[in-house]
Amino acid sequence: MILIHGRGVTALSCANLLLQKGFNVKINGKPFSSELSVLIDLSTLQLLAQIFEDKNIVELGYPIQHRIVKWGDDAPKVVNAHAKAIKLNQLNSSLERSLSDILFCKENNDDESIECHIDATGRRSQIAYKLAGATNTFFGSREMITTQVEASLDHCITETVENGWLFMFPVSTNRAIVQMMCPVTNAEANHKSILENAIQQSSLINFYTHSRNIERIACFPASPKILSSLGSNRWLAVGHAAFTVDPICGNGIGAAIHSAILAAATLEKKDSTEFNTAIDHYHKRQQLSFVLHLQHINDYYKCFAHNRNWQQELSSTRQFLESNTATNILNYDNMYYQLANNSLVKLEDLVS
Ligand SMILES: Cc1cc2nc3c(=O)[nH]c(=O)nc-3n(C[C@H](O)[C@H](O)[C@H](O)COP(=O)(O)OP(=O)(O)OC[C@H]3O[C@@H](n4cnc5c(N)ncnc54)[C@H](O)[C@@H]3O)c2cc1C
Repeated sequence: MILIHGRGVTALSCANLLLQKGFNVKINGKPFSSELSVLIDLSTLQLLAQIFEDKNIVELGYPIQHRIVKWGDDAPKVVNAHAKAIKLNQLNSSLERSLSDILFCKENNDDESIECHIDATGRRSQIAYKLAGATNTFFGSREMITTQVEASLDHCITETVENGWLFMFPVSTNRAIVQMMCPVTNAEANHKSILENAIQQSSLINFYTHSRNIERIACFPASPKILSSLGSNRWLAVGHAAFTVDPICGNGIGAAIHSAILAAATLEKKDSTEFNTAIDHYHKRQQLSFVLHLQHINDYYKCFAHNRNWQQELSSTRQFLESNTATNILNYDNMYYQLANNSLVKLEDLVS
């Protein structure tokens, strides 16, 4: 039996993929309660619809057709962004409808029938620590302040301000989410006034927010992180448990689902002599995705090079990217494991 810990989009996707491959699967996790609204691009929703064999998934959420980006000193530009705004708990309940209730169980790590654990417990990933002492390396300590405002717009906006960047997307005809990414500078910092000041500094987002007085805010840690080990023949870490991306990439859920697909393909090799090679491959592909992501966001955040808080924030990423470890990981790109029956390769074609 494969025991999946967690009940987010990664856990459910991995469970469904493994069931399709004929595995005996159980899910250990509380019902998903996060009220967080996220933007999911259409290709990610289509991938979920394919995994869950449910075309209705693509119909979920509030549609957005384009994005206006005003980054650093560049002039604003309009880019196509076919995406949907959706609450994570709504997405999760839709996905759970495709799964039988008997899959959900209480934690039982001592059960002898467990052949492999999947840690899909999200950013804090406690299971990998419990099973193998794996710990997280964080790159910076920035956070996302988020609120909902009255606003009427049909597109999303990304805009930099002095201390970070703002993101706004509609969730209905008259409500929108505003988020701000900024370094944690002071534990006593008043997040509400940081966000209000940033909105006032902005030109595009300020134009749309009719209610200047923000009522409720929520804060989330949002710096990238990766686990020291991503698995063995007894367990695998997937989704945000394995590594967490910076929200500027706009595709956290897409990256999480890709790791679930790769993990399911890895487990398909469980009873073959290729299993250890497949695990090694899983580890290396995940690390490679993470390092490429760090390179990408470092390029984006160059525009904050003059800002003292961001300099501290980004130095750990820069040091890591200049290290031998990062160079070695980037060299994996040249290695492509051709497994005997090619199933891993085929799955990677699907996720690329
Ligand atoms: C502020 C913010 C904004 C974001 N915006 C976007 C966006 O616009 N677009 C996008 O694509 N992504 C976005 N993301 C990222 C997105 O939320 C993640 O990619 C996605 O939720 C990862 O899914 P997951 O299933 O790996 O982890 P999670 O969604 O964190 O799920 C983890 C699950 O594990 C459960 N769990 C935790 N501990 C245990 C335990 N010990 N035992 C059992 N279960 C446990 C939790 O209850 C939860 O059900 C955003 C993230 C944040 C923080």
